[in-house]
Amino acid sequence: MSITNMLYNRSEFLKIAQDFLDTHVSSDWCIISIDIERFKLFNNWYGQEAGDILLQKISQYLLRIQQMKGFPAGHFGGDHFFMCIPNNNNLINMIYQTIRGYIGEHSNNEGFLPIIGVYQISEQHPDVAIMCNNAQLASSEVKGNFNKRICYFTNDIMNQLEKEQNLLHDVTVGLENNEFTFYLQPKCNSITGAIVSMEALSRWINPTRGFVSPGEFIPFLENNGMIAALDTYIWDAVCQTLASWKKDKLYVIPISINVSVADIEAINVPEYLFNLIRKYHLSPEMLLVEITETAFAENSIIVRETIDKLHQYGFCILMDDFGSGYSSLNMLKDANVDILKLDMNFIEINQKNRQKGIQIIDSIVNMAHKLNLPIIAEGVETLDQLEMLHSLNCVYAQGYYFFKPMPVADAEYLLTTVPYEKYDHIHKPSLEINDAAVSSNEQLIETSVTHSIFKILAENSLVLARLNLVTAEFEILKRDYRLLGRGIELEHNFTSYNEKILSANLVHPDDAELYRSRVTVESLRNIFFNGKKQLSYVFHRRLGNSFVPTSMKFIAGHKCDNNSPWIVVIVHSMYD
Ligand code: C2E
Ligand code: CA
Ligand code: CA
Repeated sequence: MSITNMLYNRSEFLKIAQDFLDTHVSSDWCIISIDIERFKLFNNWYGQEAGDILLQKISQYLLRIQQMKGFPAGHFGGDHFFMCIPNNNNLINMIYQTIRGYIGEHSNNEGFLPIIGVYQISEQHPDVAIMCNNAQLASSEVKGNFNKRICYFTNDIMNQLEKEQNLLHDVTVGLENNEFTFYLQPKCNSITGAIVSMEALSRWINPTRGFVSPGEFIPFLENNGMIAALDTYIWDAVCQTLASWKKDKLYVIPISINVSVADIEAINVPEYLFNLIRKYHLSPEMLLVEITETAFAENSIIVRETIDKLHQYGFCILMDDFGSGYSSLNMLKDANVDILKLDMNFIEINQKNRQKGIQIIDSIVNMAHKLNLPIIAEGVETLDQLEMLHSLNCVYAQGYYFFKPMPVADAEYLLTTVPYEKYDHIHKPSLEINDAAVSSNEQLIETSVTHSIFKILAENSLVLARLNLVTAEFEILKRDYRLLGRGIELEHNFTSYNEKILSANLVHPDDAELYRSRVTVESLRNIFFNGKKQLSYVFHRRLGNSFVPTSMKFIAGHKCDNNSPWIVVIVHSMYD
């Protein structure tokens, strides 16, 4: 690139510009920095030669200005140019437009625009090197903003940078001092009320800053190449928790971790996670991996390879924030993920956008089910939202309506009171799911039938369970979220289950006697083993704040005896 050599290099420019300013003190001057946003990508797309030609054109242009007007121009390497010019908007705009025109000869892509940072020189000005640096810092403020391409350095920018510098320092110290931890937020089966997994969300508790939420430090760490340091720390802590649960035979519930694209670019994530689960003797199903949709939308080779590798190791992948960015329903076909997390913006439905919003969610949920992709709605805060999700057949949910993120100790306590259930899809690595075309087809049909059955049952019953008339084993398959006394499902013995229902006063006192004498394994066994196929009782059961007439129906199969002792139990509200 011989021609660019005719512009001053860095050290020449710093000296010449200083001399120039010393002899031109009377006017109003500025230092501008000129870059091409995503220039590396430009080289990739249009070839190195096109990149070189573009740089040469810019150099020749700046050189012409220098020769005609005497304003010093420098080329510091790559796509970094600097000039010392009069502080004049028209002139700066003209330079911008001319360079933009050169880029336009190769590409109309908005992603490759020039970006100009301006440092206005006052009487008391710092070194030229610092002014160049500040001009460039100003330009970094408008990176990615297609509408604003010229940015002036201000004290606000300086303060912001200082704040970031302090943050960087505090995060580094915080990591050394173990100030970072994670909270757990359950994801629920909203029909049974059971927990299917938990998400680890990092939290920073700093002695001077107090409680800092991830929104304040995660994007910052991502932009500063520090996210992997935090994330690997959190992932390790999550695996330690899982290992302690395993060792004490406490809970067998998977935890999902968040993986940023910046992690994927910085370290070998699959290798790292695989080593972690080996270190803590965990199986890969226990650690779910959440990756945001934007990573898939970029569709980079490295993201695709990471996902393939994670699958090979048996990890299950969730696409986080689905629908928040550039994704389309079409993208789902190609994205190799196991579970979708529907972005919380979707369910923020108001009266105005209600119809449209519901239709959109409906199409997403249908598409996901067709592709055999389980879907979890994020950010569920109200009963209204939950009911809407139910009507759309979206069963899994996460949000403040159920539980806020909580310290690990609280989550552990919660797991002793709320049932957890294994969700087959969530635990099945996708390799098995996609085993063969035939089996995935069968699964598709089965899923849609299951979904229809599930929908009918979900809409019409409060409890769906099966009962063994010999052993009194009682297994709840579905439970309405409005019923009180969630912990009662932990009870798998029908007699104890009923005792708990009665002692928690969930049956109206007027009906308690009937319930106590009729709804027993002995009484039911007598009836069903003697050939009866169906039986139902009506009593008042507590639902929300009141007692509502409720029917409890028992249904036997073709035959019911010691060898086939299972019957179905369905509880209906007579108001629904
Ligand atoms: P995310 O992964 O989408 O996590 C969900 C966020 O929504 C969490 O915010 C959670 O506290 C919040 N949330 C949950 N339920 C509700 C609800 O009903 N309503 C509302 N309004 N919000 C709800 P949080 O903990 O502040 O985390 C923000 C984001 O920071 C996360 O979004 C995730 O992208 C990122 N993040 C959090 N922890 C980590 C981490 O350890 N590593 C990485 N790389 N990113 C993390
Ligand atoms: Ca997440
Ligand atoms: Ca999310």
